[in-house]
Amino acid sequence: MDKIEHIGIAVKNLEASNLLFAKLLGVPHYKIEEVASEGVKTSFFQSGPNKIELLEATNPASPIAKFLEKKGEGIHHVAFAVEDIVSEISRLKGEGFVVLNETPKKGADNKLVTFLHPKGTNGVLVELCQEIKAE
Ligand code: ZN
Repeated sequence: MDKIEHIGIAVKNLEASNLLFAKLLGVPHYKIEEVASEGVKTSFFQSGPNKIELLEATNPASPIAKFLEKKGEGIHHVAFAVEDIVSEISRLKGEGFVVLNETPKKGADNKLVTFLHPKGTNGVLVELCQEIKAE
């Protein structure tokens, strides 16, 4: 695995949190993207070398809606950049981690993504993401 690509934070109201994080970080979000298949609307901030992703649920069945219900607002996942997500998935499976999407799917921000079940990672939802390169 490579560097931490971003930290994902679950929020109830993306608009309000965009204003809050703009004040906190001193920069506005640089994009908003909806991932309809996941029931989330995301916004991204770049703060120095670090990226923050805010996630709002767009429907009650969304994983973010369930997270907010159970745990409230806060850190939702830590995402690591990987060079080759397919080989990283098979490496981690071999180490006994539970990979939630064995076939990576298209996430926000032009990435192929998968997640590791937090039960196997001390309660931290871990995202792996690989940049989708233009063909
Ligand atoms: Zn993420």
